[in-house]
Amino acid sequence: MRGSDAAAPPGSDVEAVDDAPHGRPAADATARPVLVLGGTAEANALVKALRQRWPERRLILSLAGRTRSPELPEDAEIRIGGFGGAEGLAAFLLAESVSLVVDATHPFAAGMARNAARAADLAGLRRLKLLRPEWCPVAGDCWTPVTCLAEACRALPAGARPFLALGRQHLSPFTRRSDIRPLARMIEPPEPALPAGWTLILSRPSSDRCAEADLMRAHGITHLVTRNAGGAASYAKVAAARDLGLPVIMIARPPSPAGAVFETVEDVVGAIG
Ligand code: NAP
Repeated sequence: MRGSDAAAPPGSDVEAVDDAPHGRPAADATARPVLVLGGTAEANALVKALRQRWPERRLILSLAGRTRSPELPEDAEIRIGGFGGAEGLAAFLLAESVSLVVDATHPFAAGMARNAARAADLAGLRRLKLLRPEWCPVAGDCWTPVTCLAEACRALPAGARPFLALGRQHLSPFTRRSDIRPLARMIEPPEPALPAGWTLILSRPSSDRCAEADLMRAHGITHLVTRNAGGAASYAKVAAARDLGLPVIMIARPPSPAGAVFETVEDVVGAIG
């Protein structure tokens, strides 16, 4: 576990602590639902692990609804769409008698993380954060750390041919640079269309570093621009950049709200008790 969690050290039964939010009669916390805020593979894995731990318990997995056909575990009730800010989420938590919130959203889903923290406070519930470890540079890496997309854009020299491994909603600062020729990869076509001079590849990231290196070599890439998402699934491009000796503009994660942070599904399950 990382971060501060003075009220609930690792391994404690965190739910028992907050069993009676807002003066409600105390019920057996393990009979009340768990809300998992998802949209990540870790959230799905957590749902499966919680289902094994509690075969009968109501588990709610919440998604924003950004992906048309998300991969979903069979083990939970799925709800899709925003809650209407922190207050809306707090109202949901109370209406559904949720006993525990696990924020397992993506490391860059900063708004939802803030809302989850505020809503759990409003509802008097404990919240746990599942956050996969970030990538760290190793020997052979040549990273320029930056804090945001705009800074990443400024870090690119004129004439660069960057591979923007960012997702279509994060490209707009780069579209204002007419002196670079980016390669952009995304799953669904961009709207509006990309500027002239850009190269678009419609595909998912590969988990094969050789395939990622072949792609970068074939397109004459000079820089990789990526966010520090962490995890194994999308690390291949970072390893491929190292193999090719390419500089990487690495966008740091937004800070997490204060509170308990767990890096693995096992750690979260262990902390719940
Ligand atoms: P965000 O900016 O932090 O959240 C924006 C709003 O989307 C939230 O205020 C909330 O709306 C709604 N929302 C986000 N996650 C939700 C969830 N799990 N369940 C219900 N509503 C949710 O989030 P984002 O970066 O757009 O990411 C959206 C979702 O995609 C997240 O679930 C995240 O785990 C997943 N995801 C994000 C990324 C990424 O790069 N950011 C990558 C992969 C997957 P209300 O205020 O109306 O409640």
